[in-house]
Amino acid sequence: MIVMPPRPLRPCKKPNCTALTRDETGYCEKHKVEYLEILKKQKAERDRRYDENIRKTRDKQYYEFYKSDEWERVKKQILIRDKGLCQWCLQKRIIKTADVIHHIVPIKDDWSKRFDLSNLVSLCYECHNKHHASKG
Ligand SMILES: [Zn+2]
Ligand SMILES: [Zn+2]
Ligand SMILES: [Zn+2]
Repeated sequence: MIVMPPRPLRPCKKPNCTALTRDETGYCEKHKVEYLEILKKQKAERDRRYDENIRKTRDKQYYEFYKSDEWERVKKQILIRDKGLCQWCLQKRIIKTADVIHHIVPIKDDWSKRFDLSNLVSLCYECHNKHHASKG
C-alpha cells in the first residue's frame, strides 16, 4: 500500500495573508474561493469573446453571401420559376408581386442549402415579415 505523503504546509499565495495551506491552488480556504471565482470569470470572459468571434465571422459570411453574384443569379432564377409572384399569397389564391427570396431552412441552420432551389421561395414583404416576426 502506497501512502501519499501529505503536501507540505505553505503560506497562502495571497499577499499579506498569514494562513498556511496544503491546498493545490496554493491558497488558504478563504482565498481559494476568491481565486476560483476569478478563474471562473476569466473563463466566462474567454467564452464570451469566443462566441463573439464566431458571430462576427458568421455575419461576415452572410453578408458576403447576400452580395455575391451567385446569389443574384439564383435569385433571378427563383423569381423566373415562381413567375415573380409571392408563393404563399398564391396558395391563398392572392396574386401579389414577390419582393424577396426566402430560405425555407435558414442559412444559419443549414449553410449548404443556401443555393438549393428547393429551399428557396419568392415572397412578398408582408408574408416574409410576418414569417420572420413569428419565427425570429
Ligand atoms: Zn489566504
Ligand atoms: Zn405574400
Ligand atoms: Zn426569410
